[in-house]
Amino acid sequence: MNFLLPLTGSFAQPAAENPTVAMIEAAYRHHGLDWRYINVEVSPDDLADAVRGARAMGWRGFNCSIPHKVAVIDHLDGLGKSAEIIGAVNTIVRDGDRLIGENTDGRGFVAALKTVVDPAGKSVVLFGAGGAARAVAVEMALAGATRITVVNRSAERGRVVVDLLNGRTDTQASYTSWEGTFVVPSGSDIVIHATSVGLYPDVDAMPDIDTDSLTPEMVVADGIHNPPLTRLIQAAKDRGCKTVDGLGMLVQQGVIGMKYWTGVDVDPHVMRQALLDLEL
Ligand code: NDP
Repeated sequence: MNFLLPLTGSFAQPAAENPTVAMIEAAYRHHGLDWRYINVEVSPDDLADAVRGARAMGWRGFNCSIPHKVAVIDHLDGLGKSAEIIGAVNTIVRDGDRLIGENTDGRGFVAALKTVVDPAGKSVVLFGAGGAARAVAVEMALAGATRITVVNRSAERGRVVVDLLNGRTDTQASYTSWEGTFVVPSGSDIVIHATSVGLYPDVDAMPDIDTDSLTPEMVVADGIHNPPLTRLIQAAKDRGCKTVDGLGMLVQQGVIGMKYWTGVDVDPHVMRQALLDLEL
């Protein structure tokens, strides 16, 4: 018998409402992996010690969520390509004695989107310019999106993302201010909502988008995973659009992270079902 189990987990604050542990451990069980995923609340002041602890205890890898995605970089030994461009890390992978930071936020999003449409050569409208939107924007650009229009309430944050895209990727990015109800330009292929509007408990909130401007050729994606059926996703379905919900993004991040840690291609359906069973 071997009672020494491989450890993985998450450092965040707050941590109590993070459902990732349920999703990952369901996949470990399904694939017969006797691994553990430990959800840990870590304050910013304790982050350095937490990472040293993970190193000392031989953790195979871990996630970092709010507020550690940028600060953790100082405690790592290297970064993957997109994490370096995005400037934030949410997945740490052990490579021998080294801890390497990766960012799977945007890659999870693109993997979920690709089940419906390939971003290569597409024209994209992206709402939001926070951490999630930034990761999504970079990965959409690296996946070959030709044009990305960033629409954000704060012009300053919007322009930071646009400058990053134009400076570090081949996409053509521009900023459009978000004043009043936004009319999605005809000819847009993919519409992505990556602000926090509509996140539980504000489930009745709707991003100020003219849903009459959504046409059936457009794919509409929402980063909000709780609830998965946001008002925006429902409106897009009603307009005949194909849709991608935020659970897909969360699940695909898990798929990518577990591949890094265990080498196993895990079944996304098991993880999605585990999240749905929680009835968030
Ligand atoms: P940030 O706080 O970094 O960014 C918030 C974004 O939302 C900004 O662009 C902000 O605009 C915008 N925003 C907030 N309130 C409003 C409003 N009333 N009207 C218009 N815009 C608004 O958050 P994150 O980027 O980290 O997260 C955003 C969302 O993405 C969250 O809901 C989170 O749950 C979700 N997410 C989902 C993941 C998944 O796997 N499904 C993974 C990661 C995040 P401004 O710049 O003007 O303030």
